[in-house]
Amino acid sequence: MKKKLMLILFISFFLLVGCAKKTTMIHETFTIYENSEEKKVMMMYPQLNIEKIDQEIEKEVQDLYDKTMENTHLSEANVNYLYNETEEYVSFALSFISEEEQTMKSMTIDKKTQKALSFDEVFKEDSIATLAKRVDEKMRNSNIQAASNLTYHKGLLPKTSNFDQFYLGASEIVFYFDEGQCFNDQRIHEVRFTYEELADLFDIESTAMTLMTYDELLYEPVKLIDPNKPMVALTFDDGPNKYTDLLLDALLEYRASATSFVLGNRVERFPKTLQRMVLEGNEIGNHTMDHKQLTKLTEAEILREVEETQNAIESIVHIKPKLVRPPYGERNTMVRNIIDYDLILWDLDTRDWASKDPKKIVEITLNNVRDGDIILMHDIYSTSVQAAIELIPLLQEKGYQLVTVTELLTYRK
Ligand code: ZN
Repeated sequence: MKKKLMLILFISFFLLVGCAKKTTMIHETFTIYENSEEKKVMMMYPQLNIEKIDQEIEKEVQDLYDKTMENTHLSEANVNYLYNETEEYVSFALSFISEEEQTMKSMTIDKKTQKALSFDEVFKEDSIATLAKRVDEKMRNSNIQAASNLTYHKGLLPKTSNFDQFYLGASEIVFYFDEGQCFNDQRIHEVRFTYEELADLFDIESTAMTLMTYDELLYEPVKLIDPNKPMVALTFDDGPNKYTDLLLDALLEYRASATSFVLGNRVERFPKTLQRMVLEGNEIGNHTMDHKQLTKLTEAEILREVEETQNAIESIVHIKPKLVRPPYGERNTMVRNIIDYDLILWDLDTRDWASKDPKKIVEITLNNVRDGDIILMHDIYSTSVQAAIELIPLLQEKGYQLVTVTELLTYRK
């Protein structure tokens, strides 16, 4: 009997997967994370189930990882990506950053043929000259060093090889320019356009998602918090991810709240999840754009990491977060002085990213939790979400109210 049921489940799984393939890509995020004294590694990359592309990406990720681990002078590796999917195509922009290099890989894939689209397949014939001119205008407006030197001139010559690194986002088109292509520095440069700005050059249609308006999101759930009873704040970093909705389901079921410190580069892909968080009384915090160690950045770069994330979140949920959690918990006086929001770390580290074991995560939490604790987890791992789903009722049974960080700070700190 059991075997039969398993077989049916097995078959229905494949049927579901088979059907899903026609409309959506089965896309996974892989994460390699390390946070030790010597090495800070955050590598998030997509797996698209297109063998050739996946292998290419994995190889580049592995190379950067090995290099960072083997060389004592390298302490940080960062791989992050933007991802957008419409009915017709999938577009992503993947960045590889270490203390030694910055590279970019962007691709737009036709979902029917599973092949990468070239510049000419996306943009209209003869659009290259107009595009080059518009990119030049934007570069000059935003970059004081955009002098008319030879590198700059060559890097923006109207030929498709100069403009073939592009990302078709939900609301913007981004063009990337390699190290040394336009400027003599060790940076990738990018130029952003709205779809309206390039409407006359564009060949494929963009499909905008309908999101809730500010008024629709204004609803605030009634919460009864007793300041005299114990309370803790569950916090989830590095998301959102596809498991986040399961976490939100459990929070809703038990009338509990949590705080998600989201990455700016992931919010565009999960706008509905983000709106749900707000609507159901959870809090959204800022975990920067792409998880670089803030203590290694310049003032302008820190500001950019934080403010671009604020804007990305605000464009979806219509409010700006009040809290920032610096990646790896790393901060110094400069970081504190520049960031105008409360910096939030944690009291209880479940080390969920290291164990990836729900049992261990639950155990560590229950054995160490105290009134007023901020608890650290990561909703990019299914094991962490599984642990959280178990923990929510268990913590409540122990008498803890599960509140957001801002609520906790109101009553406890
Ligand atoms: Zn993090």
